[in-house]
Amino acid sequence: MRRSLIWFRSDLRVDDNPALAGAVDAADEGVVALFFVTPEQWEAHDWGAAKRSFVLRAARRLADSLGDLGIALRVVRRDTFADCADAIVDLMDQLSLDGLFANREYEVNERGRDEEVERRLREAGREVHWFHDQTVLPPRRIETQAGDFYSVFSPFERRWIEILEQDGIPSARDAPARSGGALVDDAGVELLEEELPEVDDRILEHWPAGEEEAIDRLERFVEGRIMAYDDDRDRPDLESTSRLSPYLAAGVLSIRRCLEAAVEANKGELTGNSKGIETWISELVWREFYRHVLVGYPRVSKNRAYRPETEAVEWRDSTEDFEAWCEGRTGVPFVDAGMRQLAATGWMHNRLRMVTAMFLTKDLLLDWRLGERHFARHLVDLDLANNNGGWQWSASTGTDAAPYFRIMNPWTQGRRYDPDEAFVRRWVPELEGAEEGTLHDPKRLAKSIDEEDLDYPLPIAEHKAARIRAVEAFEAIKEE
Ligand code: FAD
Repeated sequence: MRRSLIWFRSDLRVDDNPALAGAVDAADEGVVALFFVTPEQWEAHDWGAAKRSFVLRAARRLADSLGDLGIALRVVRRDTFADCADAIVDLMDQLSLDGLFANREYEVNERGRDEEVERRLREAGREVHWFHDQTVLPPRRIETQAGDFYSVFSPFERRWIEILEQDGIPSARDAPARSGGALVDDAGVELLEEELPEVDDRILEHWPAGEEEAIDRLERFVEGRIMAYDDDRDRPDLESTSRLSPYLAAGVLSIRRCLEAAVEANKGELTGNSKGIETWISELVWREFYRHVLVGYPRVSKNRAYRPETEAVEWRDSTEDFEAWCEGRTGVPFVDAGMRQLAATGWMHNRLRMVTAMFLTKDLLLDWRLGERHFARHLVDLDLANNNGGWQWSASTGTDAAPYFRIMNPWTQGRRYDPDEAFVRRWVPELEGAEEGTLHDPKRLAKSIDEEDLDYPLPIAEHKAARIRAVEAFEAIKEE
């Protein structure tokens, strides 16, 4: 008679969960599930209230779904990852569990924790089974001809498509069927509510937890907005993207389920047919790419630049500018609107993530690590691989194939992507009285602020001069 332990981490779902399926297949007597609440570790990883709230709420919903499958959930509170191995060994002893099943996590601390757990369990004579879940193609499945990791997105994407066209697209697997009553009772589930941090109501409204919500969002997106995704995805004033990122980051939704839905809507093809679908699939490949980078270049998990030579950039030191950026008071309405969207909802549109990150690292010449951390502390969809990848791309310390002088002009970006000023007017209400057509033009805006006596600052950086300063800072390291 065999009993399995399934350990949930960033895979908080029963649908298409390889480790859960493995645990169920291996057990003829029953399965017990485990989830750790690790507040100090989360703090060390800069998880803010939005992310913690989302994960705890998702784990609470998971307890119910597991209950429907006849699987009890044990929730255990430990301060850090270092305390997890003991707790697992004890639980497996106590409940006479034969094997541990879990989906791999790829960040450095997570890998260290898992190696320790594996060592301790092997010593205790228990089985450990790891599964791959987080990407469609496992890291290391895509390598260059020389056997290296790809460092540029486009050839990575071409290879990704080539492999899937050759081998077929991995299909998503339904949740396992109920197999009788639970072996033991749930325990510690109340911790998921006790530990809930307070968050703005808008975060709860925008991001309801649970697999049903995630699948529902995916279906609605694929049946509707995906077709216009290529045209509209850069418009923060329209609800043009899927808003699935928190669900993917916490593993409430399977990446294979997303790909399957998109390919089905695209008549079975990864490319061609609908431009909207093809472009959306490409965004999923960015997610794959940054995870491969995280595995291939572990230094990015440790606050180091992907391009080591950029460690020498002399970033400015200005608490005042940094705070103005964090609070959405830079005097550049498009930037400020993005920062305020983040503070209020825990999410920021991708175009704004790029614009605000470039503004911090290029216009203000402040260290990307400050911005990465601020985002981490506020994003509901915090995901180390994507957040670090996005920040390093914007700061030109990362994998971007373009040279360091890719510097976005936040005013031009505003004119192009918020043409009716709707996004800015929504998030920066003190500009309500500004004349129409002035919000993405620094000169006209200054005049309007003066004439209407608006309570809004003048820009803290003048783009043209700041651009020259940023280029010089990068040229200086080239000369060294
Ligand atoms: P959609 O446009 O509908 O895309 C679908 C999914 O594809 C997303 O949910 C996401 O999982 C993935 N995806 C889309 N764009 C990217 C991208 N550029 N890179 C990697 N994956 C992508 N994404 C996060 O999930 N977590 C983060 O912490 C995060 N931080 C970022 C920081 C910066 C500075 C930048 C520039 C980007 C960051 N992104 C992050 C990527 C991107 O902004 C978000 O994934 C996207 O805005 C989420 O909205 P959506 O679900 O509507 O995306």
